[in-house]
Amino acid sequence: MGSYDCTKCPAYCCSYTRIIVNKRDVTRLAKHFDVDVEVAQKRFTKVVEGEQVLRHQKDKIYGSVCMFLDIKERRCTIYNARPGVCHEYPDFKRCGYYDFLKWERTQQGDEKFIPLTWK
Ligand code: SF4
Ligand code: SF4
Repeated sequence: MGSYDCTKCPAYCCSYTRIIVNKRDVTRLAKHFDVDVEVAQKRFTKVVEGEQVLRHQKDKIYGSVCMFLDIKERRCTIYNARPGVCHEYPDFKRCGYYDFLKWERTQQGDEKFIPLTWK
């Protein structure tokens, strides 16, 4: 039995400001959208403190999330072409955020409750 369920989570992990991409990730994105690698790099990524990261979009829940998140359905729109870090996350059997979410929901007695702060 899995200890976290992404379908019941508003995709907290996609709100990380530094979703790092490497060359392979950008090449995969370019292929997926059928554009040149340079175009993909410019359109989908930016450099923050020397690191190439995915661009963001505004979001009601977390303020800002990855540009590829469907903010209504709360799921990745490029699932098969998503970067390696998204593929690997979370790399443990548990997701810390999901544990927190479940605990808050039990406290609130509300299955769909979304806490807005998380530290
Ligand atoms: S924060 Fe955890 S439970 Fe939520 S979508 Fe990401 S991996 Fe899944
Ligand atoms: S590429 Fe997909 S899985 Fe990765 S952060 Fe963006 S929306 Fe989330």
